[in-house]
This record gives sequence, C-alpha cells and structure tokens, in this order.
Amino acid sequence: MHSGSGRGRGHPVRKKRIRSDDEWRESLTSQQFRVLRRAGTEAAFAGEYTDLEEEGVYRCAGCGSELFSSAAKFHSGCGWPSYYEPIEPEAVDEHEDRSFGMARVEVTCAVCDGHLGHVFTDGPKPTGLRYCINSVALDFE
Ligand code: FE
Repeated sequence: MHSGSGRGRGHPVRKKRIRSDDEWRESLTSQQFRVLRRAGTEAAFAGEYTDLEEEGVYRCAGCGSELFSSAAKFHSGCGWPSYYEPIEPEAVDEHEDRSFGMARVEVTCAVCDGHLGHVFTDGPKPTGLRYCINSVALDFE
C-alpha cells in the first residue's frame, strides 16, 4: 500500500517522477505507453518474460525503478509473469480497480505511477499473492 517516505525503516525515499503524456510518448514504445500510461493489458502468453527463469531484477520500463526479483517469480499458468511479492513493499502501490465489471487490485510503480498489472490472492506461499504483471511494463537485467 502507499509508502509515504519510508523514513526510519532503512528504505530510500522514493521521489515521484511526474511526466506529461507527450514526454512519456517520447521515451516509451507505443505498446509500453498503452500499458503503463493507459492501463492496457498485453495479450496472455505473448509477453517476453512470462516463462523467463533467469536470475535477475525486473525494473519498471518507464522509470527504471526496481520492482520484482526473479526469486519471487513463479509459473502461474495465467499467461503473464507472476511474482508472489514485489522486491520491496514500497516499490509498488496498490489501488482498487472496478473497471470492466470486476473488483480487482491494480498494481502501479511507486515512482512513476505506471500501470503494471493486478494482484490476486490465489498465489503460492509464503504470501498467497499473485502479482500478475505485463512483460512490456518491465525491463529484465
Ligand atoms: Fe516506474
């Protein structure tokens, strides 16, 4: 949930990165813009990271902020990269999303507010959560 400054808990202060749509259009591909800035969804099983098993860190494709670790990635079968937790609780923000007649929880980047995907409560241990994230919103390294 919302991080605030994180002061006193050893977390770096996350400064919001605010850009206009025109600025985002310059730095993102049209696919990235549609997902990150317009809450779009890539087609299931189409993203490049769905089945990736390599060790590394997944950063926000918008702002480069670290979001997820391969250590928390699992095969969900849902067709999108899935993680049972973010790299740090403060890395993402979560918001109620009632679009398309569903009650879901949207996940956004805590730094640039880019749309990443949704979090569901049918994940594995230890959290029981499934962060279902669009590949196009991520950069793996
Ligand atoms: Fe971001």
